[in-house]
Amino acid sequence: MSIDVKDLSFSYGKGKNAISVLNNISFSIAAGESVGIVGKVGCGKTTLIKHLNGLLIPDSGSVAVDGDLSSKKGACKKVGILFQHPSRQLFCNTVLEDIAYGPKNFGISGDELDVCVREGVREVGLSDSILERSPFSLSGGEMRLVALAGVLSSSPDYLVLDEPTSGLSKSGRSNLFRILYSLKKSGVGVVLVSHQIEDVLDVVDRLICLDNGEIAFQGTPSEYLSSMPSPIPQITELMRDLKRAGIDVRDDVFSVDDAFGEIHAA
Ligand code: ADP
Repeated sequence: MSIDVKDLSFSYGKGKNAISVLNNISFSIAAGESVGIVGKVGCGKTTLIKHLNGLLIPDSGSVAVDGDLSSKKGACKKVGILFQHPSRQLFCNTVLEDIAYGPKNFGISGDELDVCVREGVREVGLSDSILERSPFSLSGGEMRLVALAGVLSSSPDYLVLDEPTSGLSKSGRSNLFRILYSLKKSGVGVVLVSHQIEDVLDVVDRLICLDNGEIAFQGTPSEYLSSMPSPIPQITELMRDLKRAGIDVRDDVFSVDDAFGEIHAA
């Protein structure tokens, strides 16, 4: 089971006014895998993820969800997206109605709908008491969790989150990653989109770096790190500092203890 993107290209607008945003993008996301899509603001990340559930259709190339190339409704149900501004995904009078909106749209009703809603609320760790509140009376962190519960209530096989940690406190971030880790363990493919690679580097299995609408890197975080120019070893930096301070550093017999001794003496 996987999402397979092949040779995807996309422009906004047509003809002379077309703005090319994505060029020849190919990658896969497997069930139970976590993937980071990273790149500078404006490089095409949001445009790319809108193709994963049929909100946008490629000009050329294809997106297949579990082998299905054609079904927009199928992709919508299988791939849930939490957009960057959760408040824009909430529009009902109560949290209950908002969370129920997705599964209701997919034809679920009655007791089954109730189970979907409670399941969504439980998965994000909110209490049922929030269900009768207006979504607009909630804090930013609560809104994000309610929007996530709304996406999860349709039981997507793949979950895509656009800039999910923006505006979250350290504990909010840990809580979100705890939820995502448990979804991934249950077989959900998780895609984290961020303009800051550090946001996702330590939590994903694989990274896709976009640059100007093209894939600049694709691989594991450790492959990414080893592809970077190696940082200057700390000891070399220390030696440089000592030399700058006028301390004679003998490269051949140098040790950390020597260095600290010399600093102490200086
Ligand atoms: P990112 O998510 O990486 O910040 P986006 O996918 O939102 O990038 O945008 C990529 C480029 O496409 C940007 O130059 C943006 O201005 C442009 N763009 C995004 N949405 C539209 C739209 N609806 N119409 C025209 N251009 C758009």
